[in-house]
Amino acid sequence: MFEDLLALLFPETCYGCDKALGKGEKCICTDCSIKLPYTNFHQNDLHELNPLERRFWGKVPVKYAFSYLHFESKGRVQRLLHRLKYKGAQDLGEHIGKQYGYQLAEHKYNLQFDLIVPVPLHKIKLRKRGYNQSDCFATGLAEAMQLPWNAKALARTTYTSTQTSKTRFDRWQNVEQVFMVNLPDEVKDKRVLLVDDVLTTGATLEACAVALLDAGAAEVSIATIAAA
Ligand SMILES: [Zn+2]
Repeated sequence: MFEDLLALLFPETCYGCDKALGKGEKCICTDCSIKLPYTNFHQNDLHELNPLERRFWGKVPVKYAFSYLHFESKGRVQRLLHRLKYKGAQDLGEHIGKQYGYQLAEHKYNLQFDLIVPVPLHKIKLRKRGYNQSDCFATGLAEAMQLPWNAKALARTTYTSTQTSKTRFDRWQNVEQVFMVNLPDEVKDKRVLLVDDVLTTGATLEACAVALLDAGAAEVSIATIAAA
């Protein structure tokens, strides 16, 4: 009864449209859920390379690449990502992770991975923000797919906040040197699912995948919430 009263006084709202959530709705209302631009890359029973996998082709051997949503610079998707990253909506990241994890498991992809590894934040940024949005996504995925995840497997070694003032080449050099495997024994011979909130150029995920493979990971696959 107390919870009902709380819900009446402070109704939880949808992270996509700010309308009050109805009974049984969590984080994202039904209306927004219907309208989100799902990629459905995992519903690919012919196993042809999807557009995301094609982007990594020839750069780094990625086994599978998935994204829950297509990135949209205006509207719901950007709003969701912004709230996850900057407004403390950790429950949203976990919720999306679970939804996607169940879908991936439905297509038996849970059997394709041994370990989930989120893209790390630099420790200074982590301290400032208080959480890593990719960890939230990873927790949800791990729970739904019944897989272990490890936030400490990878580390970011250089602070990259000054990136914007650098040339494109320097930026790439910088990103390339940024990631290292902290726990090589954890990733050795494992089929790793590397996860991040958003893929734009793909350079970050590419650098992480290279680091994991160099450390002896058997395979690297990628899953993001949204991909541009
Ligand atoms: Zn909504």
